Amino acid sequence: MSVVTDVLALDIGGTKVALAVVAPSGDIVRELVVPTASSPAAEEVWAPIAAGIVDLGLEARSWDVGIGSAGPVAAGPGTVSPVNIGAWRAFPLVDRVRAALTAATGHAPRTALAGDGHCIALGEHWLGAGRDVASMIGVVLSTGVGGGAILDDRLVAGSTGNAVHLGHISVNAWGNRCVCGGHGCVEMYARGPAMVAAAQARGWTGNDGIELTAAAAAGDRVAVETIEDGMRAAAAGIAATATELDIRRVVVGGGLAKAGEVIFAPLRRHLGDFAVLDYVRDLELRPAELPNAGLLGAASLALSLSGRGVLRARSGA
Ligand SMILES: [Zn+2]
Repeated sequence: MSVVTDVLALDIGGTKVALAVVAPSGDIVRELVVPTASSPAAEEVWAPIAAGIVDLGLEARSWDVGIGSAGPVAAGPGTVSPVNIGAWRAFPLVDRVRAALTAATGHAPRTALAGDGHCIALGEHWLGAGRDVASMIGVVLSTGVGGGAILDDRLVAGSTGNAVHLGHISVNAWGNRCVCGGHGCVEMYARGPAMVAAAQARGWTGNDGIELTAAAAAGDRVAVETIEDGMRAAAAGIAATATELDIRRVVVGGGLAKAGEVIFAPLRRHLGDFAVLDYVRDLELRPAELPNAGLLGAASLALSLSGRGVLRARSGA
């Protein structure tokens, strides 16, 4: 019954949307990238994505579709409220994708929705730096801090699809209030713009995270110390997650991680301070390997709908 069939993957971010037909091997058969419309009208943000689905020229059959979206997501109703897409609040993304595909192919699709942090973890687990392990944590260090976990070849989705929200674990119970409403969250210290602002407050004159990591690599003391502080917060959050879930492999990606050892060296050192129980000591910290992990993770999610791919089929699905 199960034939080798390509799936559809959608990766919806604040700046661009990628749509791709992906083979069960992970090869991308066809891909379209459209800029995310910066409109205050929900339908105007959706329209170019709907057009993209038509432009892919999908064959007339029922497709399995994995949808990765900037979060938060609500897996039950299939809605999304991306922090960085202001026009979408409880936007019925899954319904829209289903309707667009049914119109384009004449068949209703099967769909699965996950947040972008989860999809990045899924992609790295399938074909990247976590492909040799059954359990891993994926961490994204960028303008925000996100995460996702795979435990025994299953995505840790959570009841609403937002589990392992690593950026908003509190690492300072007496810290300032975070944009999320909590206090002392990882993201307040470890996100790129937060480290840039902290360095600027100490007299550093650069502008962004790329300049900050370059300055640290060149030995600038303020840059080095600021990254040190940010990575201590990240390490505390990562160690808490690894300890909670009993997972030893941690894959770190995102714009900041691309700077390499200037980020990984302090992160590794501080992990030694927080991941101290026997079963998480010497966590395996790896750089992410895929440029399109989110898209491939969405494809992995789609493959799991038919029990294919590396994810174990969900019982009862
Ligand atoms: Zn927060």
